[in-house]
Amino acid sequence: MKKIIIIGSGITGLSAGWRLAGNKNDVQIFESDNQIGGLAKTIKFKNHYFDLGPHSFFSEDREIYKTVKDLFQEDPGELPAKERLVKMYFMKKYVDYPLSAKSILLQMGPVVPFLCFVSFLKSYIFQFFNEKDKISNDEITVKDWAINNFGNFLYKNFFKPYTEQFWKISTEDLSHRVIPSSKKLDFAKTLKHLFFNKFLDISRREPNELNIVQRESLPTFYPKKGFGEIANKISEKIKYNKGKISLNEKVLKINILPNSSFEVFTEKKSYFCDIVISTIPLNQITKKINPINNKKKLVAISEKLEYLSLIVLNIITKKKSLGFQYCYYLHRPYNRVSNLNLFSEETSPHNESIFSLEISCLPNSKMWNKTDKEIYEDCIDFLKKDIELDDADIINFKVIKAPNVYPIYKKDYTKNLESVSSELLKIRNFYSVGRLGQFYYGDIDQMMRIGFDIAKNINHEK
Ligand SMILES: Cc1cc2nc3c(=O)[nH]c(=O)nc-3n(C[C@H](O)[C@H](O)[C@H](O)COP(=O)(O)OP(=O)(O)OC[C@H]3O[C@@H](n4cnc5c(N)ncnc54)[C@H](O)[C@@H]3O)c2cc1C
Repeated sequence: MKKIIIIGSGITGLSAGWRLAGNKNDVQIFESDNQIGGLAKTIKFKNHYFDLGPHSFFSEDREIYKTVKDLFQEDPGELPAKERLVKMYFMKKYVDYPLSAKSILLQMGPVVPFLCFVSFLKSYIFQFFNEKDKISNDEITVKDWAINNFGNFLYKNFFKPYTEQFWKISTEDLSHRVIPSSKKLDFAKTLKHLFFNKFLDISRREPNELNIVQRESLPTFYPKKGFGEIANKISEKIKYNKGKISLNEKVLKINILPNSSFEVFTEKKSYFCDIVISTIPLNQITKKINPINNKKKLVAISEKLEYLSLIVLNIITKKKSLGFQYCYYLHRPYNRVSNLNLFSEETSPHNESIFSLEISCLPNSKMWNKTDKEIYEDCIDFLKKDIELDDADIINFKVIKAPNVYPIYKKDYTKNLESVSSELLKIRNFYSVGRLGQFYYGDIDQMMRIGFDIAKNINHEK
């Protein structure tokens, strides 16, 4: 029996813990928060349930899909299928999200499609005559990618404002890798994208076997009592297999012992173990491990791997509907508004609604340090117009903050990531995994896969 410590009870840590405890390892999970689930948790506030930005479950990975469905096998009605209804408010119209050529052609009048086409053609001709000056793939920024593939008009009016509002850094400093499948498209493919397919969702996730548009067309599910039910069900499995989850217990330090085992120090006490799995940010874990080669340099490099923070402002109103589950906005303090009751009616009392406003910000920025009341005041006038709300409709609000949420793929991030990962890989019996631990912009099913795979490797090595 191996003694295994897992740092973080997000979906990655819980999934690894489930499979490891199920194989008779002695599993201990430490979580700094007062509840499990990490970014996939649901918070109870009075008689309301808020996700950290609403989540849906979808997957093309058959094992993961079945595993999640089976978690609810005693009452499958608790995980109903939910159609994804997503829009974007663009040029004063509710258009498809991701933006589609159909929306541009049918909803924008004759001028916008004409300008899109002319600007795309100009960019294509320019590239044709400057083929030899092409920059290497690693150096391509969002700006280069968007202009090359879609022309200046869509870059200026859609890609640039949206990307900069979301990521808070210039499109000239952001790697094209924030865009799933952001390869160079040839002329025919670009035309196909312009006229038939949706433009790629530009701010989210890495390419998988399916691209983002295909992944978002998969059947989606949402647990009736909030997305956090998935984490809750996994934690029941861990506890059934005698694994332990300790809340409010932040890991502060990890000492590597001469026999490649570890002493892990938390806020409460220290523990010995054979294996450590960390799911916390790379720029934090490098500071906690001792001894480690060239620590000063490693910490400095890892600090260049930054994560964007997220503030979610939940506004409780009298019964109202946005008409769609999610709507993306440009030129607002928030990037997205979600109508939680369209995910599940059980997230609030029947005569009330919840609107979740997602605000991304840089760590420790002015926005991050605002009081809840200031955040509310920044957003409320925009929201009143966006969803036609009166003061009398507003019942209450609740702000939730998460410091490490989106790995920021700056244009030089791969080099820094490789340096840090290669050093951590040298530590025997230590694994840094998951969205934060691998600096990987993935979804729930991808995190479960990572958790299961790492557990499989460890179980196999026993
Ligand atoms: C707004 C938003 C919407 C999303 N929507 C979807 C969606 O619709 N569908 C989907 O599939 N995916 C979605 N995702 C992605 C999904 O939430 C994440 O990929 C997943 O939750 C990451 O899990 P993780 O375990 O790797 O990391 P995390 O959930 O971040 O877990 C890390 C855990 O470590 C803990 N921790 C940190 N430091 C310490 C320490 N020192 N000691 C102990 N514990 C510590 C943290 O508190 C946290 O609980 C969304 C993400 C966001 C932010």
